[in-house]
Amino acid sequence: MDWISDSDDLKDGFVNTLTTWYEHHKRDLPWRHTRNPYLIWLSEVILQQTRVAQGRPYYERFVAAYPTVQSMSDADERDLLRLWQGLGYYSRARNMHRTAQYVAGPLAGKFPETYQELLKLPGVGTYTAAAIASFSFNEKAAVVDGNVYRVLARVFGVEADITTTLAKKTFAKLADQLIQLSDNPATYNQAIMEFGAIQCTPVSPDCLICPLQQRCQAYLTGRQRELPVKSRKNAVRERYFNYIVIRQGDRIALKERTEKDIWQHLYDFCLIETEEPMEAFRELPEGAILNWVLQEGILKGLSDERTHVLSHQRIRARFWLVEIPEGRNVPLPDGLIFCKPSDTERLPKPILVVDYLKSLHF
Ligand code: SF4
Repeated sequence: MDWISDSDDLKDGFVNTLTTWYEHHKRDLPWRHTRNPYLIWLSEVILQQTRVAQGRPYYERFVAAYPTVQSMSDADERDLLRLWQGLGYYSRARNMHRTAQYVAGPLAGKFPETYQELLKLPGVGTYTAAAIASFSFNEKAAVVDGNVYRVLARVFGVEADITTTLAKKTFAKLADQLIQLSDNPATYNQAIMEFGAIQCTPVSPDCLICPLQQRCQAYLTGRQRELPVKSRKNAVRERYFNYIVIRQGDRIALKERTEKDIWQHLYDFCLIETEEPMEAFRELPEGAILNWVLQEGILKGLSDERTHVLSHQRIRARFWLVEIPEGRNVPLPDGLIFCKPSDTERLPKPILVVDYLKSLHF
């Protein structure tokens, strides 16, 4: 379906209305004061899966520490990860470092200036390439992300399931048709993203003061909650469990799982859950337990990853074994209790924990 020619009113109105709305409502954000592709790229990498309020101080710290792509390329990866700490998805930080090295090295410090060339950069997908191409070089390359799906689905009444490949093509085509109508693609792209972020929000869109109200199919038919369509079937949640196994002699520290979550009231070890696999102990998020281990314990080893599949979740677990020297009297972190083998045997535990204990010959 050709959404644009089917609706001449929208054709004239949508792009201009959004752009005007943006001029009056945009937030003053530091990356909106530059056309420097390095800084635009940096902001986009930080803001992926991160809210603006959380990402902004990281952006400012990164710009201060690495003002140019060359300086980021020269960075020690540990320093870069340290600066990233708390943002999660550490692979993003590592990919960012690799991209900086590629731009600073083979590309002699110069970011590509077109959407197609930007796509060739390692770790740069269609969304980021479109953002840089439009914001830095004013190319008519449409950004398409969750905000854009939502705004387009609601205003144009697109009912395609956004988890399907066909829908992604439909939305990409519609987004491309729209940006072609704009005289200022940089502003238009920012406008649609900002509109999705603060006006046409997922749960409570502010329809009563919306300038698109009388053109919006979702509003006119009361389907704001139904659009965009997003099927949830087959969604398997990946979870990364980092178990800190504290052992002293023949005793192991266990903890009852009291939260409303899987394995409620079973016993497992001290647990740190992360958004991605952790490969080094010091990559684990900072917190009391980490400080406690570093102060009181001796890190003895890390197991291979063990996978446990549940109906809607896949648990990927690693076990960090920490020894407390015999005879040392240390208070355990909250909720943990030292258990002798007979007690450990007695307590209910997830199979994942049982199997690990077996591997310790416990
Ligand atoms: S009327 Fe409501 S649903 Fe439609 S574009 Fe505006 S905020 Fe979004």
